[in-house]
Amino acid sequence: MTQTSGAYEQSRLTPDRLARLATRVETGGDRPSIPVQTPITDTEIGTIPACSDDDIVAAVDRARQAQSAWAETPVESRAEIIERFGDLVDEHRDNLLDIVQLETGKVRQHALEEVVDIPATCSYYASNGPAELTDSGRAAPIPLLTSASVTYDPVGVVGVISPWNYPLTLSLTDAIPALLAGNAVVCKPDERTPFIALALGELLEEAGLPDGLFQIVTGEGAAVGPALIDNVDYLVFTGGTETGRTVAERAGRNLIGCSLELGGKNPMVVLDDADVETAARGAVTGAFTNAGQLCLAPERIYVDEDRYDAFLDAVVSATENLTLGHSFDYGPDIGSLISGDHLDSVREHVDSAVEGGATVATGGRARPDVGPNFYEPTILTDVSPDSRIICEETFGPVVSVVPVSDAEEAIERANDTEYGLNGSVWTSDRDRGRAIAREIDCGTVCVNDPYAVGWAAIDAPMGGMGDSGLGRRHGPEGIHRFVESKTIATSRIGPLDTPPSVPHSVTARALTGLAAVQRRLSRLIR
Ligand code: NAD
Repeated sequence: MTQTSGAYEQSRLTPDRLARLATRVETGGDRPSIPVQTPITDTEIGTIPACSDDDIVAAVDRARQAQSAWAETPVESRAEIIERFGDLVDEHRDNLLDIVQLETGKVRQHALEEVVDIPATCSYYASNGPAELTDSGRAAPIPLLTSASVTYDPVGVVGVISPWNYPLTLSLTDAIPALLAGNAVVCKPDERTPFIALALGELLEEAGLPDGLFQIVTGEGAAVGPALIDNVDYLVFTGGTETGRTVAERAGRNLIGCSLELGGKNPMVVLDDADVETAARGAVTGAFTNAGQLCLAPERIYVDEDRYDAFLDAVVSATENLTLGHSFDYGPDIGSLISGDHLDSVREHVDSAVEGGATVATGGRARPDVGPNFYEPTILTDVSPDSRIICEETFGPVVSVVPVSDAEEAIERANDTEYGLNGSVWTSDRDRGRAIAREIDCGTVCVNDPYAVGWAAIDAPMGGMGDSGLGRRHGPEGIHRFVESKTIATSRIGPLDTPPSVPHSVTARALTGLAAVQRRLSRLIR
């Protein structure tokens, strides 16, 4: 494994630029500052204010005031602004890439995945969102004499709590349909990666989003999260499963809707007819993108025993060709982990697996010579099925390869988890792959790709089962979260009852007769 070095001064960013971004956070007075470091060198790159509860309440109030006029703005005009915002993200790509890289330590091509995702999401919702928000007619109990229709009103103010691993995509990907649906958004980015959300706020303004509609509040999650959840009308949370439970409890107490995009322990299934080189390439891309700090990354690979040796050789060899390092140009393959604490947690997962009998096929060590928070892409074998490395999310560049006797065992092992976010199946028979995908208990299962084909299918819903979350982003499901559907039902014959002079026994016969006709009619229509 080679290395490259790179200092954050090489980026096109200046401390002044980040300081100016921090001033976009509105507070009611001086607040304590939270230092923000780059994991590339563990040096401070700026500070953000620790917002108080009053600041959160004020941000939601500002958002609420702006929202009523926005909800009255024709959806086509809202869509134009969203589309323009996507274009601006594309135009400012290099600047945004620098901010993402500086905050997260990821390499440029992994940051690019985030930057290209936003224009695509804007374009998808600008094109498809208006139709999802149009009133729709529904079947009513007595054809011709009754009718029903549904309207979709914005919920009001949507809170978005986002994590550090994809701070650009995950601060905006849900905000886009929320705004398009006529809501305001208050976003709380992770305190380690706040600047990219602030930069996107600037671009939303430049795109013509009215003042106040996209607010950013900053601070430690446990300090500012509760006030946000207590004041918004819907909450989107992306982060760890345990935090998700806390957030869901609070949302439940407030009886507001929430969607939770949480962790995973994603299985990859390599069948006996898979092309080994293709599967190995997919494993390396999937497991080590963003140094494995990707909720969708495979962390467990179940390989048919007929393919196991060839697959392991191929995946180890491809992993050993990866370069570790940092550059603000396209260069190294794998970047830094987010922090020293996270490095310790990844190291501990690997060390405990090794103590339990696992073998390190490649990697397995930190690389302080490259930077303070770098860890080698690591492949483990001989892992026991109940070890932490198989049961708990590692969220680092570590993947275990396990031989299985056949597809049934692979499916059983893949489903032997509390999580259910993303899985993949590798085969030369795509129909067989899709059939096996149906057996895997995950919100998304990709065939012959580790994750990108599922994420990039923006028209299709994405989310987790079990401990991986609740609700879905993307697709029509991703915008319907942000509206209250209201049914307006009309009768042309007055109340659906019988005059007081009619005996109840006659009413009963009429009702059961009517119900029977209805059932017959619906069978005929089917
Ligand atoms: P985390 O749960 O610690 O933090 C996520 C966000 O929640 C941050 O903004 C944080 O400040 C905030 N937060 C922390 N405590 C809070 C509280 N008590 N109330 C309200 N907000 C609070 O997440 P993390 O561990 O730093 O992030 C990584 C996790 O996120 C991994 O488990 C990963 O799988 C998951 N993730 C899931 C998806 C998905 O789409 N399913 C995407 C990315 C990351």
